[in-house]
Amino acid sequence: MKFALQRRPLGSGRKAVAFVSWSCLLHTTTLAMTVVPKNVVVVGGGVQGTSVAYQLALRTPASTTITILESQQPASAASGKGGGFMARSWGDGSPTQGLHELAFDMYSDLAQTLGCESYRKLPVLSVSPGYNGMKAARKNKDLAKIIPGWLDGTVGRVGSMGGGEDTAQITPQEFVEKMLEHQSRIQVVLGTCWGVETDQGSERGSRKVATVEYNPKENPAEKKLLPADTIIVSAGPWSCAAEDWFHGAVQLPMEGIKSTSIVWKKPEGNDVDATALFCGEDDRFGTHLEVYPRPDGTIYICGIGGSDYVSKEDLKEGAFREICEANELRVAAAKASFQEMSSVYKTSGELDRSQACMRPCPPDAMPYMGSVPGYEGAYINAGHNCWGIAWAPACGKAMAELILDGESRCVNLTPFDPARYTPDAQRGTRGRKQRGNNVGEQW
Ligand SMILES: Cc1cc2nc3c(=O)[nH]c(=O)nc-3n(C[C@H](O)[C@H](O)[C@H](O)COP(=O)(O)OP(=O)(O)OC[C@H]3O[C@@H](n4cnc5c(N)ncnc54)[C@H](O)[C@@H]3O)c2cc1C
Repeated sequence: MKFALQRRPLGSGRKAVAFVSWSCLLHTTTLAMTVVPKNVVVVGGGVQGTSVAYQLALRTPASTTITILESQQPASAASGKGGGFMARSWGDGSPTQGLHELAFDMYSDLAQTLGCESYRKLPVLSVSPGYNGMKAARKNKDLAKIIPGWLDGTVGRVGSMGGGEDTAQITPQEFVEKMLEHQSRIQVVLGTCWGVETDQGSERGSRKVATVEYNPKENPAEKKLLPADTIIVSAGPWSCAAEDWFHGAVQLPMEGIKSTSIVWKKPEGNDVDATALFCGEDDRFGTHLEVYPRPDGTIYICGIGGSDYVSKEDLKEGAFREICEANELRVAAAKASFQEMSSVYKTSGELDRSQACMRPCPPDAMPYMGSVPGYEGAYINAGHNCWGIAWAPACGKAMAELILDGESRCVNLTPFDPARYTPDAQRGTRGRKQRGNNVGEQW
């Protein structure tokens, strides 16, 4: 399925299912904790992992250590290269609707608390590639108000997808950096996780997380351990490797969809009006552009077409984690497609950068959020597809509630059970390793 098709308002799902409860809206950070973890390790420093760490830091005492174990740099993957678009009511009425709504509301507060300059609400237009559409669009007063100055080339039909009440944007890298700055007790360790050691759990046959095994970035041949009574695997598409860390107790089918995006420099002397575009399929170039002008005057564009599909086996090997390069043919197609719509950028537009990143896609397009069966202190928060930035604050809050209170009240996590693809007979089966030693199934 194509990227752009997934990220548009679908059907009449506007208000169909709201999983955000009133108790959540009243929930404050002062709730009594039922569990006080000693050492939390979050694997993955993208927007999802950092949001979980941030929400845990809000609710745990200073004695709880919170470590993000990040293979490259925080926000170095999709969380640094994604668009950062969010839409409160664009869910499809499925269980993810509640994530859209809660996160959208949390973002406006968080952006203020953290001082994120890249956050703003903005209107959205739908634009068909083609000719002679602008004359009719300008005759519609409401539409004319939100047509950006830079949309001055040839376009087909133009329509409104929202006046900016329930659509917004944030540059995800800034958001991640600001969360880390604000909660300075979250420490970031650079290294790649490759396993989890356990002790016997409190229930017969269960296991308790004891340490996280990793190779430090500065010396990948070295093996190091981080003490952990709680681990949250939030490593984007690469989270499927946790199948092996938990010895098959949870199956995490995953595909990585790798796409190119481009960023235009702010044009000299021109203001860049704040209206986002969702463009129809442009058969001339094979694109279906999503255009997000940012508050710093740059314009981010994805929906460039020609994405690559990366298999679970390759993801487990770390494919495209360290190096993920733009497809130059798609860069050229995106430039040409956008320049048809904007004579300003056709004559004087300059690219700031081109890049590529992967979105994490479970087969049912629903995230994996919950605990690992048969393990104490082991959680997955991954596979957020094309909405991982938009949903991040809600996911962080829901996971913090699950870890500290034993259940999430703000989001119903049942549909996101990480073990939903795990055959019953395999769920939480006892592993074979205790503190590095092979112990078979017998302990
Ligand atoms: C082109 C594009 C545009 C997008 N635009 C939007 C948008 O506008 N709005 C929106 O909501 N979403 C958007 N998305 C989706 C969004 O970017 C992702 O859903 C989101 O960034 C996923 O965040 P994450 O933290 O789960 O994963 P990632 O950002 O992929 O972060 C995972 C991190 O884990 C680290 N890691 C991996 N394996 C290990 C390991 N073994 N040990 C330690 N660290 C590890 C990686 O280095 C990485 O930093 C877009 C995606 C793409 C591809």
